[in-house]
Formats: sequence, structure tokens, C-alpha cells
Amino acid sequence: MTCLALVLLASAGCDERAPPAPPPPRPDAGPDTGPARDAGEVVVCTRDGDCDDGVCRSYADLRPSDRAAISLSCGAPETGRSPVGAGCLRQDECDRHLCAFAGTCVQPCAGHEDCATGELCRAVWVATGPNAMQSLDACTAQFALPGDVTVEGPTPGPELGEMAVLDELEALAPNALVAWWVAEPDQHVHINSIATRDTPAVRLFSGLPSSHSAATLLWGIGPNTLGELTAIRFPNGPMTPPSTTGYTVGLTSEMTSPSERVVLRRTETGTTFDIDAYLLGGRAWESPDGSMPEAMAEAMTGANALLATVGLSIGDVRVHDARGFLRARYSIVESRFSDDLREIFRLSAGATRPSVHVFFVRFIDGALGVSAGIVGAQGMPGTGASGVAIGADPIPDEMMPSVIVHEIGHFLGLFHTSEANALVFEPLTDTPECRRDRDVNGDGAVDSTECAGAGANNVMFWSGTGTEISEQQGALMRSAYVTR
Ligand SMILES: [Zn+2]
Repeated sequence: MTCLALVLLASAGCDERAPPAPPPPRPDAGPDTGPARDAGEVVVCTRDGDCDDGVCRSYADLRPSDRAAISLSCGAPETGRSPVGAGCLRQDECDRHLCAFAGTCVQPCAGHEDCATGELCRAVWVATGPNAMQSLDACTAQFALPGDVTVEGPTPGPELGEMAVLDELEALAPNALVAWWVAEPDQHVHINSIATRDTPAVRLFSGLPSSHSAATLLWGIGPNTLGELTAIRFPNGPMTPPSTTGYTVGLTSEMTSPSERVVLRRTETGTTFDIDAYLLGGRAWESPDGSMPEAMAEAMTGANALLATVGLSIGDVRVHDARGFLRARYSIVESRFSDDLREIFRLSAGATRPSVHVFFVRFIDGALGVSAGIVGAQGMPGTGASGVAIGADPIPDEMMPSVIVHEIGHFLGLFHTSEANALVFEPLTDTPECRRDRDVNGDGAVDSTECAGAGANNVMFWSGTGTEISEQQGALMRSAYVTR
């Protein structure tokens, strides 16, 4: 987990972003046939297997009840509406009247066995009225990756617990992202150590789960995560040791728990990443029609200008408007270590397209922004590590582009150029370092003034005061597992 503790700065720019698309026209459909009835009674369901007649679905004309589980009953899919898996903005666009908050028409389930291969049965929210969102368990894609990414797994990993256990990885060259997770949603997975499988082994990383997320001099490893999933990226700089024998990774979690692991590989790079932006109260932004609020559009334009310096751009920005209970529940995050954050990141469940999920809340106590990890769960929506959160209310307009790029940078694998203690630096060779001798006021921390000309201008400076992105930072972002 990492965060942006304080920021000063500004940036601006302009681009030729097209105006947001208008909402799709309402399909020319006949009247809904209504719920299937059995001896005059509506047949209640939680999954298609409960229905002898039709599928398990909702009906838009049911009275909205904010926060309640959504009512499901058997019936024919409404003709002329979008099928399961299609993108959606509103409930009545889907033939089951179930449009998940992440913007996909979904199918109810009672367990993973009700879902297709590659899907998990997870909680999602559906907007059912102007001030109402209601929940259900639905089949959701486990991966949303660019087409050239290969997925090895998920495979069973070691049983984790308080004592570190070792997992063996094959060689990761030329490029890989490895993630481990546990099924228990309130657990965290931590990386405790990494060594090569040579004889003798070469120790590459040794971290304490409680320590601040920190890079090593060779291979940047973020040992901590906010969620039940943690990940590493190979390589994440020119110094990452390319072992041909593979690696041994030490892992822990708070309680005994089986784990799973996936290895993603890709050799392509991209120039564009899409954003799914979730409005959870920040700046009082609302978007009933899916268009970007004006100030957000300006922030994205500014962020685009920063990214353009390294050949990157933000593609589609899909806006998801929270309302009712959900908006109130998560608008204020009382700690940057709060479990609220991983619950927020799980709202990305249902997404099917590669993107970065950015959640705009009002405040995060102690931070302007937080990334779920370094790296985050790239291309794996719906986990507690699947996004970044921005505490938007205290961030001035001119600072917002830097904060957005900084947190997305973490999610895509970038560490702070220099941590506040001036003792920890990331493993890139083309970013400036601000060392302890710059701590002129002797307070044990280096700030943006003390680091002027030594990294304070970089967008990944720990206090987020910068706007510059180095070529190596750009290369890591371009080769992330969400770019196209
Ligand atoms: Zn940061």
C-alpha cells in the first residue's frame, strides 16, 4: 500500500478529447413479459439453476429499496436488450435488468460453480433508482487483460500463515507479473523475501510486512498490500536480476489460509490505458448520463499532458455514478489503512475490459490518494487490490492531474523516487535521488524544497510535488498489463 501524503503542485495541458458519447438510444423492444409464475406465485431465484422457466433476473419496475438485496425471479430475458457480458450504464439496458456498478450486464449466481470458466461469483451493486443501489451475487470476470497477455493459472499456492512459507517460481524473463491471493477477504498477503533458486541462493529482497512499502536497490518489491492480493512485476527496472533458475518467494498472511497464484506474461507494450472512474462522493461529482463532470475532464486532460511526455495517453474514461447508500458509505475513508479501501476497490467486480479503476471519494484521512499496491492487481478487477482511490475534496484543480498520475503510477509499478526518510530509493537509473545530506533542517525527512533539483520535480516524488516522468518510468507504464 502506498499513498500520497501531501502535494503542492500544478500542471495543465490540453488535448483534443472528444466529448463523451451520449447515452445509447433505448432499444425498440416489446413489452417485458413479466416474471414467470408457478401456480400464480412468482418463482424467486438466486441463479439460473433455480428456474425451470426462463432465467434468473430482475425487473426495472420493482420499487427501489436502497441498500437492500435486489429481488430476483425467474422469467424470460427481455427482448431487444443487451445480453450478459455487454457494457451498460443503466439497469434497463440489460435483458435481465442487472447492470453492475462496473458497467457490465451480469448474471446472478449462488456460488462460483454457477459461473463460466474464468468467472467468479462475487458481490456487485446495481443502480435501481435515482437514490438506490442494491446488491446481488453475480458472475464476474476474474481477468480483464489485453489480448496478448498469457495467463498461467490460477494454480494452488502454498498455505499461508503468520510464519513465512516459500513459493517456487520458474524464470520470469522476459516480462511477467505474478500475483498471490487468499480467499478470505479480510486477510492480507505480504511478501517477506525473494531469493534466486541458484546454489547457493542469492537473496534479492528481505522485507518486514509491517514496514513501509519500499523499493530495493535492485528489484522494487512492494511487500504490503491493502487487499487480499499482492503482486510483483519482473523486471521493474534495468537492475532487476534475471535469474535463469527462477525465484523463491516468502509469503505471509495474518491467519492460516490457502492461497492461489497466477503468472501473467506479455511481450507487447501499449501507448494507451483506459480508466474506469467511480464517483463515490468526491467533489460532489455526479454523472447520471455517464459523462465526465467538467472538472474531472479537465483533470484527465492535465494528466494526459503529463503522460504524453513519455508516449502515453489516457484512452476511454468510463464514468460510474454511485448513489444512495453506496455513495454515502464510502465517501469518507477514515484511514489510509482502512478496510474501507479494499471494499471500495472490490466495486470494480464485473469489469471486463483492461483499465485502471480510479475511485473518487471525498476524503482519505492521512492521504490525498492511495494505490492498493505497487504493483496493483493489474487486469484483475474485483479484488481488494484492484484500483486506486483519490480523496478529491482537498485537492485543488491544478494539482489533480499530478495526483491521478502519481497513484496510477504506483498501480502500474512505480515507486517513489525517494522516500521521505531519504534512505530508500527505487531501482530505476534515470530518476534523481534525494539523499539524507539534503535534510538541511535535520527533521529526518526530505521535503520538496530540500529536494529541489534532486527529484522533487518527478511525479513519483514521495510528496507528489512533481510533474516529470522519466523514460524508464514511462517504459514501465507502457508495458503494464492494462495498456493497449
Ligand atoms: Zn505515493
